[in-house]
Amino acid sequence: MKGGGGRPTLLVHVCCAPDALYVLGLLRETHDVTGYFYNPNIQPPEEYKRRLEETVKAAGILGLPLLEGPRDFARWSRATRKFRDEPEKGRRCDVCYALRLLETARRCAELGMDACATVMSLSPWKKADALNRIGRMSGRRLGVGYLESDFKKKDGFRRSVALSREHGLYRQDYCGCLYSRRPERVAGEPGGKDDGEGRGGSRG
Ligand code: SF4
Repeated sequence: MKGGGGRPTLLVHVCCAPDALYVLGLLRETHDVTGYFYNPNIQPPEEYKRRLEETVKAAGILGLPLLEGPRDFARWSRATRKFRDEPEKGRRCDVCYALRLLETARRCAELGMDACATVMSLSPWKKADALNRIGRMSGRRLGVGYLESDFKKKDGFRRSVALSREHGLYRQDYCGCLYSRRPERVAGEPGGKDDGEGRGGSRG
């Protein structure tokens, strides 16, 4: 399915407003972009609601459509429970990436779009190589393309923090699941509480 001007259509998984604003803004230069908020990892419910509302705001700033995926929190918990003691970037995160990217590919195929992608490689706390490998596999399984990325390159992360500040968007201080919200992961490390240097930017 081609978009306006014959450009390829792209369904982009988004996890939070700061990442969405920067990455969707970049991708819309070459693709016909739709955002897809599918994040059953985000807890507690008030946090999920806040990140969704802020992402709606980011999509509005860009004038792009945004869809919300199912809120299947129980499915996410069942799939990741046995890895609850893994550190961030461990096996729990691989399962979490896989759930979100497979659903994005499924929705992409259902909508008849050309390819899918995720904003998550923008974050220094995410493994771009694992995201690309899992994304490729998900796309193959569902018969859609997958756009590989490492958006943190070319100063992407710092630029996204500056842009989200400019627009007054909420920047969370933990990745999303309750395991990543342990006090020691939030307060004492770089990227925890906003340290004034932008490192406390999006932790989604
Ligand atoms: S730390 Fe982030 S990527 Fe890893 S399991 Fe939790 S929400 Fe998912």
